[in-house]
Amino acid sequence: MKIIDLRSDTVTKPTPAMRAAMAAAEVGDDVYGEDPTVSALQQRLAADLGFEQGLFVPSGTQANLVALLAHCQRGDEYLVGMEAHTYKYESGGAAVLGSIQPQPVVNAFDGSLPLEILEKSVKPDDQHFARTRLLTLENTWHGRVLAQDYVDKASRWARSRGLGLHLDGARLFNAAVASGVPPADLAAPFDSVSICLSKGLGAPVGSVLLGSAALIASGKRWRKMLGGGMRQSGILAAAGLYALDNHVARLAEDHARAQTLAAGLRAIKGIQVQACHTNMVFIELPADRLRELDQHLATAGVRASIGYLPSVRLVTHLDIDDAAIAHAIEAFARFF
Ligand SMILES: *Cc1c(COP(=O)(O)O)cnc(C)c1O
Repeated sequence: MKIIDLRSDTVTKPTPAMRAAMAAAEVGDDVYGEDPTVSALQQRLAADLGFEQGLFVPSGTQANLVALLAHCQRGDEYLVGMEAHTYKYESGGAAVLGSIQPQPVVNAFDGSLPLEILEKSVKPDDQHFARTRLLTLENTWHGRVLAQDYVDKASRWARSRGLGLHLDGARLFNAAVASGVPPADLAAPFDSVSICLSKGLGAPVGSVLLGSAALIASGKRWRKMLGGGMRQSGILAAAGLYALDNHVARLAEDHARAQTLAAGLRAIKGIQVQACHTNMVFIELPADRLRELDQHLATAGVRASIGYLPSVRLVTHLDIDDAAIAHAIEAFARFF
């Protein structure tokens, strides 16, 4: 049975053309700065998004951690969403490895961090407190594009308080394609941005951190310390370059399929589907039915992310076609 895997857009397999690009990549030892394909990927994304430099790292988690370590010193703190990846889903890395204190702020429904709460969260310059240094935002946030007027306001506020700004842009290209705003404009208010190549873009491995030459120089040292200094990683960077050339515009197809999925599910009696913005569909289900749904879907050959909040998440991606969406809707209809 072919499994329709809607757990995440990380589950894609490299296409034959992407594998061919990887096999043909010119490589060198990137710790010596000698891998031309890694350098090309870093320069390409830096230029496209309006930054001085980029740094290729193995994962989005490492890109965010390197950014936090480059922005903050021991005893500093960063303001971050309570539901943000950089707070909740990165194993507490900033605190464990960086001695950086997170100051979580409850996300509003749209992923924003209300400015009046941010304002109250900044610590006075006093020996009792950690030094507040950085605001981190996330775009897309749970599949939602962060409102650009909010980002502009938040960045003006952060500047006025002398804070740096980091964006977890794991799915920044989804945000750009869905909103029609160029990715460079979405990135412009920030000092650093992390981009995942291994989500909707369909590369097997890798993220890129973007920032000033000084931030990336510092980040390179942290990357080495974290074990992220890779050697002939041009093989991986080639997949990223291929994805940037071939898999950005097609994110619109993932978004359209997510809309079809959301509409199909909404038509089923008894199912509560949230508004869908990019490639993610969220369903609310009473907790006592989750196990039963999981088992039903398993026998129907459908996989979903079950048990996180909201209770069920379905993500469209490169390896999901129209037939897969129809099959998934049918499986849900049978359950309900
Ligand atoms: C996936 C993801 C990350 C981390 O990426 P990994 O490559 O899985 O470590 C960071 N932020 C967001 C918003 C993500 O979705």
